[in-house]
Amino acid sequence: MNIEKLKAQVSGEIDARRHQLSELSLKIHSNPELGFQEVKAAAWLTQYLEENGFSIERGVCQLPTAFRASYGQGKPAIAILAEYDALPKLGHACGHNLIAACAVGAGVASKPTIDRFGGSILVLGTPAEELYGGKVIMAERGVFNSVDIAMMVHPGVYDIATTQALACLALEVEFFGKAAHAAAQPEEGINALEAMLNAFAAINSLRQHIKDKARIHGIITDGGEAANIVPAHSAGTFLVRAEDDTYLDKLKQRVLNCFIGAATASGARLEYKWGDTRYAPLRNNLTLAQLFAQNMQSLGREVKLHDPSKAFGSTDMGNVSQLVPSIHPFVAIAPVEITAHSPQFASAAASETGTHGLLDAAKALAMTVIDLAANPKVVIKVKEEFQQKND
Ligand SMILES: [Zn+2]
Ligand SMILES: [Zn+2]
Repeated sequence: MNIEKLKAQVSGEIDARRHQLSELSLKIHSNPELGFQEVKAAAWLTQYLEENGFSIERGVCQLPTAFRASYGQGKPAIAILAEYDALPKLGHACGHNLIAACAVGAGVASKPTIDRFGGSILVLGTPAEELYGGKVIMAERGVFNSVDIAMMVHPGVYDIATTQALACLALEVEFFGKAAHAAAQPEEGINALEAMLNAFAAINSLRQHIKDKARIHGIITDGGEAANIVPAHSAGTFLVRAEDDTYLDKLKQRVLNCFIGAATASGARLEYKWGDTRYAPLRNNLTLAQLFAQNMQSLGREVKLHDPSKAFGSTDMGNVSQLVPSIHPFVAIAPVEITAHSPQFASAAASETGTHGLLDAAKALAMTVIDLAANPKVVIKVKEEFQQKND
């Protein structure tokens, strides 16, 4: 059988599972679970994979809602990643329900490819993308050591085969001042809120003089108790992002200096803690991205390979992409004016257009698995590109 025939067969297999896959997606959508609490989603996904002949390891990397499902043996080991966590209050406003069903569909449809050409297909359940960077932990704990290639597709508003995602680190800060009557004895107080506001002002000034793609943004989580008390305590959470790790390291100190300066000026004491989870920038494997784009095009989608104007935030897939050749394309499920992490995007993730996007993405992934499994030279090319960029 030639490759094109096999691709058509695999695509038909996903169409035949349309009902099951959309049911899985909608079930996860209507039962949103936050990071590391995705008990139902992990159970439904592993059950489906198990019923379809995959070997399942639940709770991998000491994360109860992570899993590793595998079919076949040996090399190349191609992993398709599933996300399934929701956002606080907004539910599946990032469409991770679609990512989950897409990964499972692509995995199951890749079985005939593995039967025919050898190698193995993995579906990796990666929890807590939004809040805790589950893949960062899984990467550190070695789950990608035996993986040759990692792929996933995220829903969005464009069809695009590559993603620009920034290195990102969180910073928690607290200022400790001294309470006093704000009108009767203000001279006795040390104003922790003013320290925080001065730090914001310093960061706003700094922002004029940093590289274009770097981002610094934060919120105040404690700004005092009452207007007539000089705030003795303030707290905030910030995110510092940059295009690469080197610049992030530089920026870290400059951002911290804004807080140190504000502490000195106000007399408040500063305590700070950098986050444990550092998101790495995403390295797109262009050989893989091209294959994926061609397969999406064969399904009638206009896919751009790269578009520097389409910036993304940060993703824990960045950390995976530093270890193994990876792609993290987007499939359009909503009009361009709708933004992710909004109630409108949550509705799109449960719409017909959403299901259509999930099926096309699953087909293109399974077709890319064929391109890889059937052509050892292509796998070598993917790996060479990865090595070159590593040098
Ligand atoms: Zn997401
Ligand atoms: Zn998100």
